[in-house]
Amino acid sequence: MEVILAEYLGFCYGVKRAIKIAKKNAGGKSCTLGPIIHNPQMVERLNAEGVGMTEDLNSVDEGTIIIRSHGVGPQTYEEIQRRGLNLVDATCTHVKKAQLSAKELAESGYSVVIIGEKNHPEVKSIFEWTDKKAVIIENETEAEKFAPCPKLGIVSQTTMAGEHFKKIILHLLDKSKDIRILRTICTATEQRQKAAMELAAKVDLMIVVGGRNSANTTKLAKLCESICKTYHIETAQEISPEWFNQCKKVGITAGASTPDWIIREVQIKCQMM
Ligand code: SF4
Repeated sequence: MEVILAEYLGFCYGVKRAIKIAKKNAGGKSCTLGPIIHNPQMVERLNAEGVGMTEDLNSVDEGTIIIRSHGVGPQTYEEIQRRGLNLVDATCTHVKKAQLSAKELAESGYSVVIIGEKNHPEVKSIFEWTDKKAVIIENETEAEKFAPCPKLGIVSQTTMAGEHFKKIILHLLDKSKDIRILRTICTATEQRQKAAMELAAKVDLMIVVGGRNSANTTKLAKLCESICKTYHIETAQEISPEWFNQCKKVGITAGASTPDWIIREVQIKCQMM
């Protein structure tokens, strides 16, 4: 049986960087604010290496707080400072750009729209940089309902699919005479989605590796499912031999928060089937 890896899979630039920063600051009561990435195995490994995790700043009185790649709002920076904690910022540079673009638009008198998922931590952080004044739009219906305004500034969640962004923009074009569109999309997600779909079209079975709590991995699994038989797994232990009955080619892809060592274990196990 042939085992093929997607052209783009696994850690993106921002996640690699955040983990490198976290490891550099391991020990001495350092912890990330929220899980550094949506991958339970990586969070566990970092914990063993001396990087803890907290969801609540109030529970930390000393040590180092590491901001994860999704970023946080300005009040969190202030609170870390107020509590006298050491701050290490691992916000992805693409996310930082979206946050600062939104802030600049808001300060220049634009009504800001963030195109993205309301409950995503990155979108919440961008929202906070607009002094919590931005409107978050997830779909075309919400865009259609958006009230006209004199100046409209638009930014995007970095992981937004380009096509979805375009569709929503079309509904916003007649909402103002002065529109600034900042396409703050990072290519990592699209590259992984495109590569996964191309591979799914060539194989009998796709294995999608990554946290079940990872939105981008779940999305990859959904896209592959629409093309061929697909299994979403977190680790190689979940692989079952009967999946491969009459299977000549199997494809593997992984979300942007899936560590290389987990992808390798899945690859080896598939090759042994
Ligand atoms: S997906 Fe893009 S924006 Fe998000 S962490 Fe990775 S590189 Fe940064």
